[in-house]
Amino acid sequence: MKNVVESLTTPAADTTATGFSTRAIHHGHDPFAHHGALNPPLYLSATYAFESTAQGQRRFRGEEPGYIYSRVGNPTESVLEEKLAVLEGGEAALAMASGMGAITSLFWTFVAPGDEVVVDMTLYGCTYAFLTEGLRKFGIGVHFVDLGDTAALRAALTDRTRFVFFETPANPNMRVVDIAMVAELAHRVGARVVVDNTYCTPYLQRPLEHGADFVVHSLTKYLSGHGDLIAGAVIGRREDIQQIHAHGVKDMTGAVISPLDAYLTIRGLKTLELRMDRHCASAAQLAELIAAHRAVDAVYYPGLPSHPQYRLAQRQMRAPGGMIAFELKGGYDAGVRFMDAVRLAMRAVSLGDAETLVQHPASMTHITYPPEERARHGISEGLVRLSVGLENIEDLVVDIRNALDHGR
Ligand SMILES: *Cc1c(COP(=O)(O)O)cnc(C)c1O
Repeated sequence: MKNVVESLTTPAADTTATGFSTRAIHHGHDPFAHHGALNPPLYLSATYAFESTAQGQRRFRGEEPGYIYSRVGNPTESVLEEKLAVLEGGEAALAMASGMGAITSLFWTFVAPGDEVVVDMTLYGCTYAFLTEGLRKFGIGVHFVDLGDTAALRAALTDRTRFVFFETPANPNMRVVDIAMVAELAHRVGARVVVDNTYCTPYLQRPLEHGADFVVHSLTKYLSGHGDLIAGAVIGRREDIQQIHAHGVKDMTGAVISPLDAYLTIRGLKTLELRMDRHCASAAQLAELIAAHRAVDAVYYPGLPSHPQYRLAQRQMRAPGGMIAFELKGGYDAGVRFMDAVRLAMRAVSLGDAETLVQHPASMTHITYPPEERARHGISEGLVRLSVGLENIEDLVVDIRNALDHGR
């Protein structure tokens, strides 16, 4: 079964308008093909009828564009994919059931026993677990490297390396990785580069323009933006995306996005630029407040000149983002005191919501790592992560300052 659905969506009225929010709002949906409806229809249909056997034959052979079954494609999903591809500057996109669905579908499509992958030493916890407990079990070599260390990266790359995978800024300590440098070294051995762009969104950073081959996202975070769904996506070259679609998702993971979640993400994208500007402005202000507080040992925010990759971040990102990590002087106990003292910010994992969220990796997301293992991945006992929300900045300043006073 082939997938020919990309050519089905209709362009926006003015396809020459290229501003980010203009595209996020208009691209991929023509209201006049849908009774003038400004919002794309939500197609709740598992299957699609063929007008004749001959049409069914053409669809299954991939000779005629059209839908067959919603694990293979759905018109609401297609609108979202058109938008994500154009926003990331890629040829095609595939929306999936979760960020993990996107990451695992990508790997399962392209790796085989005996292959190797090189990954950054700091990764989202479930990505780390997939690589170490999933891929390795099937005979794929997984090598953790500090991708800021060019010599270590060079040494880790071999002609068996299929992928180099990383996040930038990396979760949760905000290390920034040079996408162009990694792509240049990886491409020399024929390896392809995958960037998890969840923290930045395409508004702040477009990895494909720096030489990456794939971008993956958790749409759960900023892109949908309202914390009301779980979804993911991969963006890249059309041929590769078709392979992930026709093989990885259709036959291996089945990690299909629901039409409603696709619809809600399309809605979230309409305000992405506005939201990101506000997340960034508030985070910049809070980062300075945190950096100046006596309870704090170090702040990791790419917009502070003290950040080790400040210059790289300025070059690679439009703005430093809405995520801040910081280390409290009092270690684990201070982290717990800070977490219990916030009143407005919510103690919760995830990020990119309207609500400000705080999490303490040592007692939450990374609690199952032994402390030495946490340290090796750059996560100290007093590290706290803040996803700055869209509340009034004055209220956030009061809440965070008060909690820091308790974190001493
Ligand atoms: C949340 C997240 C993921 C996983 O996405 P899900 O939608 O929760 O499956 C992957 N990478 C990063 C950086 C994330 O923040």
